[in-house]
Amino acid sequence: MKTPLGKWWSSNCTVHGSHWPRVHGTMIHHIRPLSWSGPDIASNKVEVCPTGHTNIHILLDLLSDRRGVPLTDETKGFSRGEIALAQRGYDEWAATGFVPRK
Ligand SMILES: [Zn+2]
Ligand SMILES: [Zn+2]
Repeated sequence: MKTPLGKWWSSNCTVHGSHWPRVHGTMIHHIRPLSWSGPDIASNKVEVCPTGHTNIHILLDLLSDRRGVPLTDETKGFSRGEIALAQRGYDEWAATGFVPRK
């Protein structure tokens, strides 16, 4: 993807792919968070930019508040990749039978 100035950068960010501004550092996100008993194994980890990471955790909190009811209006301003990863994390957590305490 290119801006009118042609300045998009490819990145290792799982949820955004190409980036502007350029991403200078990514972080590891646990799809099913460690605090939700997620395993610290490769299949539960993705590399994301700091913004994507923050957004995924906002969505996880929303899903927890809603007891997993699919996100609708609140998801404006989030990317499809962020929403998909958050939903997957919540669903894997819910599948363990662990009931949100919030
Ligand atoms: Zn995370
Ligand atoms: Zn990103």
